[in-house]
Amino acid sequence: KKIGIDAGGTLLKIVIEEKGKITYKKYPIEKLDEAMGWLSILAQQAEVNLTGGKAEYLKKRYFPQARVVTEFKATCVGANYLIKQSRLQIASKFMLVNIGTGTSWYLIEEEKTERILGSGIGGGTFMGLGKLLSSKVEYSQLAEQAMEGDRASIDLLVKDIYHPGEPPIEGTLTASNFAKVEKLGVHSESDMMAALVNMIAETIVLLSNQTATYYQTKVIVYIGSTLIENPALQVGLERFSTLVGLTPHFLPDGEYCGALGSLIV
Ligand code: ATP
Ligand code: MG
Repeated sequence: KKIGIDAGGTLLKIVIEEKGKITYKKYPIEKLDEAMGWLSILAQQAEVNLTGGKAEYLKKRYFPQARVVTEFKATCVGANYLIKQSRLQIASKFMLVNIGTGTSWYLIEEEKTERILGSGIGGGTFMGLGKLLSSKVEYSQLAEQAMEGDRASIDLLVKDIYHPGEPPIEGTLTASNFAKVEKLGVHSESDMMAALVNMIAETIVLLSNQTATYYQTKVIVYIGSTLIENPALQVGLERFSTLVGLTPHFLPDGEYCGALGSLIV
């Protein structure tokens, strides 16, 4: 039996492999002690592999025998594994974009993997700014609001600036995120959440596009828990990636790349 744990900034991702069968679980990092209750028992007859920012802490506190694997390597190895398992047809050279609490970019070419960029714009931004813009505090509620909202009354578009004239570039592009906001209390929470998700999606795609050009690839694979039941973000990433000429893919169970990779490496 093998256990892989990816202890990130927000969520604990757990992969259990037994007789070729794989089980996935996740816990908020605040419920660490609850998860460690049953995991410590399971770990008595299993090989434990740890990765993520809190891996060393978990080793010290709960699993002294465990192997610690670097997050970057584990994530890429897990992604390669999941891509092979999936029916996705993906070029041999591509960029992996992990939208976790923060966002990381990796270049993968067969077995060669390299971390090439990072940004503080990510799932933590969605949660933090979301709690400021909305009365909701839970991830699923914020994601639902974002899906129901419309950013048209929040974001200033290129055509808004050039009106009544003709814009020199595509008019529906964003000229300035949140620039139409008048004051606190007049905009609906959903509309602001839609604008927030769009800003995150646009920023990630713009960074991806610059990086993809530099490393000469067009293929992007998006992973990370910020994509879970977050259709507004998925649609935004998909639409904007395609618009700039990238080919986006969303890897099923992609949030488990790190945990899975830790027991394969
Ligand atoms: P990092 O890799 O940056 O250290 P992490 O590994 O914890 O962080 P992920 O688990 O990939 O990151 O993603 C965390 C994000 O997933 C959160 O910031 C939030 O936007 C989103 N998320 C999805 N489901 C939940 C949930 N049930 N509770 C809290 N956040 C969630
Ligand atoms: Mg992570």
